[in-house]
Amino acid sequence: MSRNSELMARREAAVARGVNNAHPIFIAHAENAELWDADGKRYVDFAGGVAVLNTGHRHPKVMAAVAEQLTHFTHTSFQVTPYESYVALAERLNAIAPVEGPAKTVFFTTGAEAVENAVKIARAATGRSGVITFSGGYHGRTMLTMAMTGKVLPYKRKFGPLPAEIFHVPFPHAPFGVTVEDSFRAIEMLFRADIEPSRVAAIVLEPVQGEGGFIQAPTELLQGLRALCDLHVILLVVDEVQTGFGRTGKMFGVEHSGVKPDMITISKSLAGGFPLSAVVGRAAVIDAAEPGGLGGTFSGSPIACAAALAVLDVIAEEKLIDRANVIGAAMKTRLEAIARRNDTVPIAGIRGPGAMVGFDIVKTRGSDEPDPETTKKVLTAAREQGLVLLSCGMFANTIRLLVPLTVSDAVLADGLTILESALAA
Ligand code: PMP
Repeated sequence: MSRNSELMARREAAVARGVNNAHPIFIAHAENAELWDADGKRYVDFAGGVAVLNTGHRHPKVMAAVAEQLTHFTHTSFQVTPYESYVALAERLNAIAPVEGPAKTVFFTTGAEAVENAVKIARAATGRSGVITFSGGYHGRTMLTMAMTGKVLPYKRKFGPLPAEIFHVPFPHAPFGVTVEDSFRAIEMLFRADIEPSRVAAIVLEPVQGEGGFIQAPTELLQGLRALCDLHVILLVVDEVQTGFGRTGKMFGVEHSGVKPDMITISKSLAGGFPLSAVVGRAAVIDAAEPGGLGGTFSGSPIACAAALAVLDVIAEEKLIDRANVIGAAMKTRLEAIARRNDTVPIAGIRGPGAMVGFDIVKTRGSDEPDPETTKKVLTAAREQGLVLLSCGMFANTIRLLVPLTVSDAVLADGLTILESALAA
């Protein structure tokens, strides 16, 4: 029995089946864009711990910052006795946040927690309760964020009743037959049928839907939502948990549209593999929550703050935002060549800004008909050949590429060759 299967058997006996594993391999070591499993097999990592590793596994600068922090203290709880790194990181995020006017920041630990708190802040700032989100959107697995998530399976089934005052409208995507006009018509209907605009606290959306299938919000959608929010004094919140920190070829995904949201939620690649999240927003909005209303024991851990300060340095020093565009272009060129071959599984809809690239596996060449079964087989074939991939999408037929932006050209090429071979298998 391999060490992987031995560990898998122990995992099945000891761990809840409600937590899924995309791949039955136990990781023993990781370096930049490569993983090694418990049996010593090497993989190229195109999953990046679900978009957490824009700066790669164990970036030396991040490791050094964490090692240095460990020699001082590991925890005090910011709300008991504060420390400088929390404030310094807030200052740096405030300076780069694409919001209008002065910004303020508050830290948490997970993406879902950031989204929950953005809603709390929006309710405090507006005195309203309603929240509008989009079908296909993903915001987390806690009660409120599960309700905000626009996909039933596997996230919501058996877990109801869901919190009230959350409303979904369709997200524009041509293969689903939904246009930007359809989305606005749905909001108009919502205002007539379910909730009047004066009771809506926030509209929350991802600049590029991540779990929903790497679907970019059109600029007209974001601009129209900004205008609608201004008209009805609703807060616009962009969930940048997956799109943040250079992934899309800009620091934040919303920057592609030029639209300035009132708050943004961030996490994942913020701290290079350490758990940290934040809500950054217009200072007057963020300060609507009263003292003691926000926080959490581990929120803004000093270890994670040290890591995040190093991550921001690495993104600047290694020009990772430019690198995202180079990596994305290389991935798209290769995928377009694969799409032209007629001896691979049919792929369609190669898309995504920067290095947030995804594509669909479809039943027949030229169609949009999803093929989730073949998608699963491609994931398995790729893993067997040494590439860790993730799927996503409303129909589980999108393959998303989240390679670290620090990947070398050689390892990137290696991963793309395995991907091509898995699609041909
Ligand atoms: N929002 C978005 C856009 C996400 O992609 C995710 C995680 N995939 C979350 C929120 C939730 O983050 P977490 O899993 O850290 O709670």
